[in-house]
Amino acid sequence: MLTSTSSGARPSTGSPGQESVIESLVQANRAYADVFRDPGMDARPVLGVAVVACMDARLDLHAALGLELGDCHTIRNAGGVVTDDTIRSLTISQRALNTRSVVLIHHTGCGLQTLTEEFRYDLEREVGQRPAWAVESFRDADQDVRQSMRRVRTSPFLPHTDDVRGFVFDVASGLLREIPDLG
Ligand SMILES: [Zn+2]
Repeated sequence: MLTSTSSGARPSTGSPGQESVIESLVQANRAYADVFRDPGMDARPVLGVAVVACMDARLDLHAALGLELGDCHTIRNAGGVVTDDTIRSLTISQRALNTRSVVLIHHTGCGLQTLTEEFRYDLEREVGQRPAWAVESFRDADQDVRQSMRRVRTSPFLPHTDDVRGFVFDVASGLLREIPDLG
């Protein structure tokens, strides 16, 4: 079981006079390594599945999907969107490490729903340079899951696109709701 290993208050900032959050992570790692035993796995995910999900802190993918160490590839970014870099990871996952199934997970209350592409122009005004990347913001999570499924299915680089399913995770109930692919 991975439970909290620190007995004191959990630092949330690196402000002066407080232990930095990263230092507490390093200490937690020492405790983890103390009891860690090499499971002797190779790098190929046991279940042959890659999960693309939002980076949201409320989404504990392994717990929510009953996954164990070594079971899957986890590809996370803001929104759980399928960008060129997501396709890069999925391509390596399928072609070099034998995964065949792709699970896409967005969630309720995603921060990407509060942003627009205007975010890029705000950045440009502030720093004098507009990022090359799209914000990939969306209003409707269901619709964005459908678009993500389409991007995976139509990628020329992915050999396995017959088992691709998309979901919205409810951060209040913990339940996944499947998004039917409308083709
Ligand atoms: Zn999110």
